[in-house]
Amino acid sequence: MTYNQSRLRRANEEPVARDADYVLYWMQAFRRLDHNHALDYALKCARELKKPLVVYEGLRFDYPWASARTHRFVLEGMVANLAAAEALGISYWPFVATPGARGQGLLRALTARACLVVTDDFPCFVVPDQIAALARKSERAVLAVDGNSVVPLSLLGAPVFAAAHLRPRIHKAFADAWRHRSSATPEVPDIARRRVDPPFAVWNGGIDETLAALPIDQSVAPVRVRPGGKPAGRKRLAGFLADKLQGYAEHRGKPASPDDGMASGLSPYLHFGHISIEEIIAGVLTQTYGTTEVTPGAPGKRDGFYGTDPNVNGFLDEAITWRDVGYHWHWTRREDTESLDRALPPWARQTLASHAADGRAHVYSLEQWEAAATHDKLWNAAQIELVRTGTIHNYLRMLWGKKVIEWSRSPDDAYRTLVHLNNKYALDGRDPNSYSGILWCFGLFDRPWPERPVLGTLRYMSSDNTAKKFKVDGYLRYVAGLAAR
Ligand SMILES: Cc1cc2nc3c(=O)[nH]c(=O)nc-3n(C[C@H](O)[C@H](O)[C@H](O)COP(=O)(O)OP(=O)(O)OC[C@H]3O[C@@H](n4cnc5c(N)ncnc54)[C@H](O)[C@@H]3O)c2cc1C
Repeated sequence: MTYNQSRLRRANEEPVARDADYVLYWMQAFRRLDHNHALDYALKCARELKKPLVVYEGLRFDYPWASARTHRFVLEGMVANLAAAEALGISYWPFVATPGARGQGLLRALTARACLVVTDDFPCFVVPDQIAALARKSERAVLAVDGNSVVPLSLLGAPVFAAAHLRPRIHKAFADAWRHRSSATPEVPDIARRRVDPPFAVWNGGIDETLAALPIDQSVAPVRVRPGGKPAGRKRLAGFLADKLQGYAEHRGKPASPDDGMASGLSPYLHFGHISIEEIIAGVLTQTYGTTEVTPGAPGKRDGFYGTDPNVNGFLDEAITWRDVGYHWHWTRREDTESLDRALPPWARQTLASHAADGRAHVYSLEQWEAAATHDKLWNAAQIELVRTGTIHNYLRMLWGKKVIEWSRSPDDAYRTLVHLNNKYALDGRDPNSYSGILWCFGLFDRPWPERPVLGTLRYMSSDNTAKKFKVDGYLRYVAGLAAR
């Protein structure tokens, strides 16, 4: 088996139709035209079959939590892809479903003219079911390509209950995977550039008119200061490299506004595939060491694997190990995220069960949570930040999750609340890391701590302790400013 085949998954047993019109790349998750393993594979097929390439990027309006916020972000990405496709000279067909043109049967019609379909093997949200549905109905080969991480997820083995168990596996496979990363500038053979006329009116970029006409949740407003798309993702990466990376290890955890904090703010761009994790890593290495080559340290340790700089190791451990923990979990146990009972390790299940009858100091309804109407001003601030900006500071996101568990009628209620709020408002929601992050608050990938009411031996966090550990006044002022707008 050659290396890149470990990224490939055949989703059906249908044949490749060598005489058909084109190779179809159905872009669903890695919404970009560079640093993209699925695009590289589709181009390889186009070259071998001597056929043009068609890239189809669709956007439905009926997915769970569809809102003006997420739609605008994706549409801004599509505008960027229109320009990128023009520069590469390939046929790019964006389609935005509306109540009058839902696009039913469109993908199947495009598939019927294709030699084969290449698509993105994203392990979460609606994507796995969409792949399975097309694979079932299609008479063409459907191949899904895992471009989620540096190391293909199929090489990472059985499920783990701790990041410390996945880290050495990633480290051992890293050097080989890094040598086989995707093309920064895809090589497009002339044949792949041959124009194919789309059989429908492709979307042409009128974002405001498109959004206004859609039956999506318009109350979740777009975040104008955080536009979607490749150029915006690259700008954010450049700003992080220039101004924040060198303070990451020491200051990332301190609650602050996105401008003052040291985190990258890249998770929405990663989630929608507007930037590749490989491009981010290459940027970090080049900025710090002047090269993208890595001479890896001893595998398994958080520090020292990616060179001597603690900022580089700290950031890459989050962006590779912790991010992969969520992706790998979904890859191996996707169905288990549907209920706490199936997702949690035995110790966490047992401790929650043994404290199920404990009295709660407060119990809030979904409406109260959503309206940031609790007694706790730091919790309310984190919720306001989420609703207004689509992000929560990383440290406060953990506190935010922990308090919902403590002040809900039951752990199952809390899980439903957190999934709903996170996926409705967060730009990076509906992601493998949405579930792994929320489940971490319930003990997944963690260990038992001293016992307390309600949480049992789950790790405890409180707003008072947070305020003692960090200065939170600046953050509270920032959120008060957001709320006043
Ligand atoms: C309750 C809860 C919910 C969460 N929901 C999401 C979510 O919906 N989507 C999401 O991408 N992440 C989620 N996380 C994980 C983490 O909070 C975010 O990835 C991080 O805050 C994103 O901010 P950043 O891009 O500035 O991170 P940085 O600190 O700049 O890190 C760079 C990248 O590393 C990855 N990363 C960083 N921290 C984590 C982590 N703890 N777990 C997994 N990956 C990490 C992300 O891809 C991130 O973009 C959640 C965590 C918790 C506790």
